[in-house]
Amino acid sequence: MSSHSTTDLRLREALEGSGQRFTEQRAAVFRYLANTDVHPTADEVFLAVRKELPAISLATVYKSLETLVGCGLAVKLSYADHSARYDGRTDPHHHARCVMCECVLDLPGEISRQEIESLRGTAGGFTVTGYRLELSGYCPACLPTRERAVTA
Ligand SMILES: [Zn+2]
Ligand SMILES: [Zn+2]
Repeated sequence: MSSHSTTDLRLREALEGSGQRFTEQRAAVFRYLANTDVHPTADEVFLAVRKELPAISLATVYKSLETLVGCGLAVKLSYADHSARYDGRTDPHHHARCVMCECVLDLPGEISRQEIESLRGTAGGFTVTGYRLELSGYCPACLPTRERAVTA
């Protein structure tokens, strides 16, 4: 696959720019993350990457994910229940999270500078460095279940 080497090159440059080493483990984790839109948990990344690198440990997967986040190659979505999901897409977009199955879907879009500026006005002395928008509701697969539960 030609996309393989492009992804590896992007990773190598970002890692070296942050003073980190390129390793086969980090490359496998990044390749998986860059080619999926399911926003996997560390466990899910571990199960997927283990098919390619059977000797990899969950701890190494965790550390690789944190390294990728640190280099700006991935985004960590943390939740109040202390669970976390990882996103290989770092361009601006929003998320929709299903309250039933907890899947996370990407939504295109970006909040305009103007809107952020106007929010900054109400934030007092708070310095805004970013934002995160997440919609909650029911994914298509979970909606029928809920409707059945309501009418039963
Ligand atoms: Zn769902
Ligand atoms: Zn996303």
